[in-house]
Amino acid sequence: MKEQLTPLEDAQLQVLASLPRLDSESIPLSAGNGRVSAENVVTSEAIPPFRNSAMDGYAVIAEDLTGAPVSLDVIAGVAAGSVTGVDVRPGAAIKIMTGAPVPDGADSVVPVELTSVEGGRVTIHEAVATGNAIRQAGSDLSSGTTVLQAGVTLTAYHLGVLASIGHSDLVVSRLPSVAIMSTGNEVMSPQTRELEPGQIRDSNRTVMRALLEDLGVDVLDFGILADDPDIVGRTLTKAAAEADVVVTSGGVSMGEFDYVRDVMARLGAATSWKVAMQPAKPFTFGTVDGTPVFGLPGNPVSVSVAFEQFLRPGLLSMMGADRMFRPRVLAVAETAFTTAIAKTVFLRVCLRNDARGLVASLAGGQGSHQLGALADADGLAVVERGIDVVPAGSDVWVELHRAPAQVTLADRCQPDGPSG
Ligand code: AMP
Ligand code: MG
Repeated sequence: MKEQLTPLEDAQLQVLASLPRLDSESIPLSAGNGRVSAENVVTSEAIPPFRNSAMDGYAVIAEDLTGAPVSLDVIAGVAAGSVTGVDVRPGAAIKIMTGAPVPDGADSVVPVELTSVEGGRVTIHEAVATGNAIRQAGSDLSSGTTVLQAGVTLTAYHLGVLASIGHSDLVVSRLPSVAIMSTGNEVMSPQTRELEPGQIRDSNRTVMRALLEDLGVDVLDFGILADDPDIVGRTLTKAAAEADVVVTSGGVSMGEFDYVRDVMARLGAATSWKVAMQPAKPFTFGTVDGTPVFGLPGNPVSVSVAFEQFLRPGLLSMMGADRMFRPRVLAVAETAFTTAIAKTVFLRVCLRNDARGLVASLAGGQGSHQLGALADADGLAVVERGIDVVPAGSDVWVELHRAPAQVTLADRCQPDGPSG
């Protein structure tokens, strides 16, 4: 019998559509880095607020400089942070520092490098155009400009703009709290020294915590659960009461001890999919007492791919972020990539720049248990359904996890060293 698979986009749309929107809160500007704005900000001030000098030099009337060199009377000086009541008149100059208000009457600033001074007079050696080295009021932002939209994830530069207009209290989306837990009788704490036969260490919780920390969210750790429906049920209920979102790993497949699916269905509404994706085909999403629960698969690479395709966009959409996915770049496949025609396939790839532009090469073994290749990878090549092979040299989209390697540095994916 042919397996019924749900297209990835359908599962994503269904998950995103059912997530609640978090409310907003007020925070100081200094706490804004990485937060998602929940307000539109319009500046009522022009930036810069006044016409000022872009250089240290002399404020002059450009017309006075025809036939340079010319000599002008230095009638005053003005530094940043002060104003002069003196106007520039024909035949005169005012000494001015970068950032100081340009005195009335002047239409240009001559950089100090083009001048020499003697006594109370300055010689201007070269003429400059009208407006030279003057920053007009409002030339960065004019009053009435929308400087920030709701949904923008704030960077240092957004914060800088907000600082410049004196917007010192921000309205941002609240950060969700996320409960994490691993399941599996074989799964042991990472602190376990000696594993008994059949046991493995829990890597998923560590991965999930770090990926969540990247989003700045508050992580509540519910540890490792045995494959026992009562324990899973009790812990899910407790976690759902304490957190905005619950994430589990393992126990959503077709195995005899995969209880997470059944328990979620018993406790609330849950949909278990076989998503047309590789890895991370089994995936369960539902609610327990109204709290969204993401049931990720157990295999470590599946956890990461399901996190990237469902949880990360889900949390960002709860925060109202307008950019929910990792950036995608186009790269050239170094070798042929063989994939599965019925699924959206995510391949762990390394990226480097050469004469062809970005080049993607497989980071190592592509099994869903091979976390080592994921650690080496710069991102995931995304090969859509309907394609079974990406020929060497053809274009492939890559979802970036980090910046590509520099050509000049040793590249673990290129045993012969970088080419091109
Ligand atoms: P499951 O989805 O529970 O059937 O698990 C699938 C595979 O992932 C099995 O080989 C598990 O041993 C492994 N696995 C499950 N949970 C974890 C975990 N927390 N850390 C590392 N591997 C895990
Ligand atoms: Mg398991």
